[in-house]
Order: sequence, then structure tokens, then C-alpha cells
Amino acid sequence: MSKNQTPARVRFAPSPTGYLHIGNARTALYDYLIAHQTGGAFVLRIEDTDQKRYQENAERDIIGALEWMGIPADEGPDQGPHAPYRQSQRAQTYRDYADQLVNSGNAFFCFCTAEKLAKTREEQTKRNENHHYDGTCRNLTADEIAERKKNGEPYVVRFKAPKEGKTTVTDLLRGDITVDNSTLDDIILVKSNGLAVYHLAAMVDDHLMAITHVIRGSEWLPTFPIHALIYRALGWEEPLWVHLSVLLKPDGKGKMSKRDTELAREQGFPIFMKDMEEMGYIPEAVNNWIALMGWSYDDKTDFFTLDDLVAKFSLEKLNPSPAAINFSKLDHFNGLHIRNLNQADFAARVRPWFEKAGYAPEDEVLYQVAGAIQNRTKKLTEVVDMAGFLFHENIEISVDRIVNDKLNAAQAAEAAGKILEIFQELAEITQETAEIPLRNLAAEMELKAGQIFGLLREALAGQKVSPPIFDIIPIIGREVVLSRLENARDILEDISDK
Ligand code: GLU
Repeated sequence: MSKNQTPARVRFAPSPTGYLHIGNARTALYDYLIAHQTGGAFVLRIEDTDQKRYQENAERDIIGALEWMGIPADEGPDQGPHAPYRQSQRAQTYRDYADQLVNSGNAFFCFCTAEKLAKTREEQTKRNENHHYDGTCRNLTADEIAERKKNGEPYVVRFKAPKEGKTTVTDLLRGDITVDNSTLDDIILVKSNGLAVYHLAAMVDDHLMAITHVIRGSEWLPTFPIHALIYRALGWEEPLWVHLSVLLKPDGKGKMSKRDTELAREQGFPIFMKDMEEMGYIPEAVNNWIALMGWSYDDKTDFFTLDDLVAKFSLEKLNPSPAAINFSKLDHFNGLHIRNLNQADFAARVRPWFEKAGYAPEDEVLYQVAGAIQNRTKKLTEVVDMAGFLFHENIEISVDRIVNDKLNAAQAAEAAGKILEIFQELAEITQETAEIPLRNLAAEMELKAGQIFGLLREALAGQKVSPPIFDIIPIIGREVVLSRLENARDILEDISDK
């Protein structure tokens, strides 16, 4: 996409049948990027024509997820020059265009019953043919139609697909696709309840909403020629069509089905956008990760902020081949983007995690804690385990983590006492002032430096994993450091006496 392209109007058109998942989030992100890159509009259209699969909370979830990703829509579902952007509220419009197609000979009323259609399919199966409409109602006369309507026979509107010749359509990533018209089916455009299906509703809306780029999943490739033919039959200029690559299971073996999605979620993988936040991922990382599922900028850059993506994304560099979902990459990007946050921002992101765990840190303390853990955090879910102890008044040390066959309790007590003495003599306990004396102590006691630092960590943090010792010390403060060391020494002495 060249930057001087006229403003693109791009729509994200989810069906509200469930939570927003990675696949649709990718489409939405690409839509947003193209719209923003060209100064156009990102339109959210809710395709709720399938009432059986409708889910009440889905629309709210989708809007919330887009906001969380930082890519809210510019138009829709209630706001914008083409409102409403909910298909259930536009049913009459679709019927009007269906009539127009009937009148121009591009669609027809079909009165075939479900039983009749089932029988036809059965016969086609026997003959080893693909299922297709057999054309029974293609050429009913106006009188016949009027009569059957008068008799109250239910009917649908079908597209009258051409039967001879070929149709060529163009996908930006795949080039020209030519099909034999004999393979095209007379698909239903309007159901017997008067509601249009996707094939008509989406085309009408894309036209009326002045959509310039249709970016959608490749599951629409089989019906793509019909969609283009509907555009042509109505005399409209086609949008640029882009069918995105299929997302594969992490092992690369096969498409991510609905069942795989459920399974992956049960196994704790982040499938839905609503899970991302809860699982400790930040939107910057999620966007980066998703953007690269089927798109690349060059073969070396993989870190992108949303602004980078807006500047650098291009549809031409999308890869039409299937892309496997790689969850461990998400963790990698999360770590990178966490490190990329400024410290105050990171502190704000971890605050709710500490609060949920029952801590109420003061801003300044939280800021310091954030500084100590930012570089080692991969997911926000880790921060409480890593640094919650910093807000505890008292900690409990584990003697078992200190005492072992290489260090007995008496030695450990002695070491704790000596560390305490070293610290007491220092005006300020910092890496610069304390590290060498601690290493000297280790040598003097014929211990490894790691044993001294491990002991010190246990004494100050009461846990095996923590931020670096010299980051902890200024946060808990000299007094607490000294009293925790004293406490550890006393406990170890007690044990060694027994
Ligand atoms: N409602 C369709 C879906 O969710 C939209 C496809 C499209 O973007 O045109 O699959």
C-alpha cells in the first residue's frame, strides 16, 4: 500500500456469535492499520443476520476487545454517517436490493420446499455430484410466481448464477482467480423469513458504506466469485478484495477449528482477546504478535509498536500461505514490550495486580518496585509472586532453602551475623559499597559467593526468586534489611543449638 493512496474505508464485520478470537482480531488490526495509514476510516459492522448463532454479549465483548487493543472503530455500530451498522436493523434495505436483482434478471424467487431440496441433494450424492441447486424455479413466469405467492407458499430469493462461460475475480494476494460458471451455485440471498444472508447483506453494506477494501478470511474464497457477480449485477464498482491466510494449529497440522480453539483454551492458551489481559499480556505485545501472523516487514525486524505498524504495514506484504499460531512467541513479545514501557506506565499496569492480591502500595513505593521487576517480567501475572513480599511487614524465611549438606545451620547463622555486621558498618548499602565485602566474606568462610547471596535473598525476601538484592534493599529500607538479617541469624542460631 503506498502512502499516497486515497483514504481507505475498511470494515471489520464480525458476526456476534462469540468472543473476539485471535483470527478476527488479526483482521480487525489489519483493517485499522490500513485505515489509519491512509487517513481513512475503520468501520465496525455487526453482522447479526444469523439469529440462531447470535450471542447477547458478543457485541459488547468485541467493542471492549478493540478498545483494549487500542484500535477502536471510527464508525459503528451506532455512530457514523451510515448508521445503523447492525445488519438486523437494515433488513428492508437488503430486500430492496434483492428485488432489484430479481427485476434485472439476476435473482429469482424459489419456492422449493426443504423436502424437495433434500431429495435433490440425495440424488446428487448418488450421482457423485457436488450439491447444487437444480434450477427448478429459475424460470418461473411472472404469473406462476404471483399465484404461488398468493397461495402463501414460502419462498427464498436466489442468485441466478450464470451457467456458461467463466468468471474472473481478483484477490490482491492471489491475483486473478477464474472459475467455470458451470460450477457456480444459485445461492440463497434472502431466506424465507425475509432476512438476507451474508452473501447479499455484506455486499450491499460494503457498497452503501463506501468500503474500499474488503479484508476477510479465506473461508470466503469459494463464494468470492458470486460476491463479485452480485456487485457487477448491481452495477457497482468492486472494492479491493483481500483474503487473509488461514491460521493453523500450533503444530502446523491443520486449520484451527472451533473444537481446537476450545481445546486450546481449556489447556490455558490465550485464544480470546478477553483472556489476554487476565493472563498478563499487554496489548502492545498482542498487537505485535498478531500483526506478524501472515505479515512481515523484512526478514530482520520483529518489534513493532502500533505506531510502527501504522507506518510500516502493507497489504502487499501479506503472505497468503497458512500461518501456524505460535504461543511462545507471544510470551517473548510480551517481555519485549514490557521492557519498552516507561517505568511509570509499567507501574500503572502492575498496580491492579498488586491491588487484587490485597496490597495497597503508595505510588512512590510502587514505582520503585516496578523499576526492580520490569526487566524480568514476562507476564503481569508474575509480579505478585515476584515482588509481593516487598509490601509485607514480615516475611517468613525457609530454613530448608538455606541449610543443606554444603552449608550447615551454624555456618549459615555465622554468615548471617557477619553480613549484618558488614551492613551495619556501611553508611549506605548499595551494590558499589557491599558487593566486594560480601564476596570477601564468602572467600573468608570458604563458601561460594552464590551461597552468601542466596542466604541474603532468603533473609530479605523469604523466597527463592526475587528482584536483584541491591534493588530490594532501597525499597524495604536499611532498618528492615538489618532487622530481617537479625531475624534470620537468630532463627538459624536456634536451629544450630538443637
Ligand atoms: N460476518 C462474517 C464473519 O464473521 C464477515 C466476513 C467478512 O469480513 O466479510 O465471518
